[in-house]
Amino acid sequence: MKRKLRRYKFGYVLGTMLAFIGLLIIVMIISRALPEINSSSTPLQAFWDFLWAEELGLFLGVRIQFSFLFILAGAILVLAGAVFAFSKQWFFLPGKNMKLQCPFCKKYWTSTYDRGQVVCPHCRHLIHPKLTTA
Ligand SMILES: [Zn+2]
Repeated sequence: MKRKLRRYKFGYVLGTMLAFIGLLIIVMIISRALPEINSSSTPLQAFWDFLWAEELGLFLGVRIQFSFLFILAGAILVLAGAVFAFSKQWFFLPGKNMKLQCPFCKKYWTSTYDRGQVVCPHCRHLIHPKLTTA
């Protein structure tokens, strides 16, 4: 249970970080494109033209086209969404309903179970239940 929870938190942090980076790139692109958008009567067209015409100088003369950055940001956001979705799945995985059997009274019941001892609802013994596929 503990390990699953940590995994969930890690996925949550990773997803948040990726979403933050993706949004940061998009905000950066839009802020760079803003003068052109403002001076145009067709803002979307101006933004589109900007994406394909302008490049961002990185380091040592390396230049990257804004359209590529925009696609990259989109990919990062999609990845962030996927990480969030998977983290949620990890989180709910231990809460799966299992059919348990008491080794004393041999009765069955269905409960969420991870590991360790539970109290049998029929005979009140503290037991390690037998797991059967529900
Ligand atoms: Zn029992």
